[in-house]
Amino acid sequence: MLALLIFLVVATKDPEPVTAFIGATLIDGTGAKPLRDSVVVVQGHRISAAGPKSSVPVPAGARTVDLTGKWILPGLIDMHAHLDEDLSPSAFPLFGVTSVRDVGSRLVTIQKLRAMAASGEPMPRIYWMGRNIDEGKPSWWGAVAVKGPGQAPALLDDMARQGVDGVKLYTLAGPEVSRAVIADAHRRGWPVTGHLDHTRPSEAAKLGIDNLEHVFTLFQELKPRPPAMLTGYRRSFHAVDSVDLGGKAARRLVAALKVRPAALTPTLAVSTLPVMGEKEAEAVYAGWANVPAGWRKYWKSSYWSFISTAGWTSREIKQARWAQAKFAALVRRLDRAGVPIIAGTDTPAPWVLPGAGTVYELELLVRAGLTPSRAIQAATGRAGAVLRRGADMGTIRPGRFADLIVVDADPLADIRSLRSVSRVYLGGREIDRMALRRKFDHAHEPPPGKP
Ligand SMILES: [Zn+2]
Repeated sequence: MLALLIFLVVATKDPEPVTAFIGATLIDGTGAKPLRDSVVVVQGHRISAAGPKSSVPVPAGARTVDLTGKWILPGLIDMHAHLDEDLSPSAFPLFGVTSVRDVGSRLVTIQKLRAMAASGEPMPRIYWMGRNIDEGKPSWWGAVAVKGPGQAPALLDDMARQGVDGVKLYTLAGPEVSRAVIADAHRRGWPVTGHLDHTRPSEAAKLGIDNLEHVFTLFQELKPRPPAMLTGYRRSFHAVDSVDLGGKAARRLVAALKVRPAALTPTLAVSTLPVMGEKEAEAVYAGWANVPAGWRKYWKSSYWSFISTAGWTSREIKQARWAQAKFAALVRRLDRAGVPIIAGTDTPAPWVLPGAGTVYELELLVRAGLTPSRAIQAATGRAGAVLRRGADMGTIRPGRFADLIVVDADPLADIRSLRSVSRVYLGGREIDRMALRRKFDHAHEPPPGKP
């Protein structure tokens, strides 16, 4: 008994391990100026101090990691991922993505992934928006539907029991259902995002939605409605080139998003990579990310025919590319207007690799006109805030999870430097990137099929 007591006293007094990262340039995810020659102190799973060497002392007995000549940033956050289809969630941390927001998977998948994480598998933190909320009938297997606004509270009660971190409205949700879901979710302290088609994005912004998915959905109120026969991926590019972004409707939309504001996850990667086709998309990853054999096979499966450009005419390909230029122009305009832009990819859509796709999304945001600093915020501090988890993650500040990445070149000078991530820490523990790379590169089997 005495021995047990002594053991308990010693065990509870045992201090958490302390690590000090010394000498890197600190990019803290808040948009603050980079800080050269920094010290970041991690105690246990969380950051306990961060700042200049001159004012942050290295605690006595701390393990030290010399990062002179490197850059240290918060781990990246992918705000639009579908883990249901994803065999390799460990590919996210391999490329520096330490948190993902899942937008539509089933509870059983989330439970399985959380059990894998609990068993010590290197996995990103998972934030789950539940299954997508439609109206009438579910338009996709990852969606559930209510008959009308009156059914919203019961559905959200059920989602609360399932432990969601927020909710996502889907294409068939009309304005009244959107209104009811947004109000009810906000009463529970949850953020709401939406991939909308039956509620206008500007109207959703007025109803207080926190976030809108896919820049192409914003064009629905700027262009004629596509003919019903036009389905799938084609629909998102239809008539986008005819839109006047200087016109009245565009000005109204920008103003509506700016007021509250409603953040936008443009998901440029999914509007870009599948249009490129295999050769060009592969060139994007050449030299920094391997495309596993299993994934190539998987992307050619019939499931993905709705995001395939097979059978498109050269005119349709051209129109899609013109549309991409318009998407970029609207993203730039919203960023300048102060609408928060956040990073999400829609992985595992064709050629949108988990993790590497997030890094590429930041490159596309910079190409659209964001500064590298603002693109980095889109996947760090700003993303954490939109998730309403800013006190826990997204920035390198005391109290946050010690989810950190180290890169070998300056990402503020060239965002592509994020391809050179050399160390990744999850809750203060460095992950074995070599082991993860081996596992990912040898993924010969395609991910499991859809239900
Ligand atoms: Zn999606």
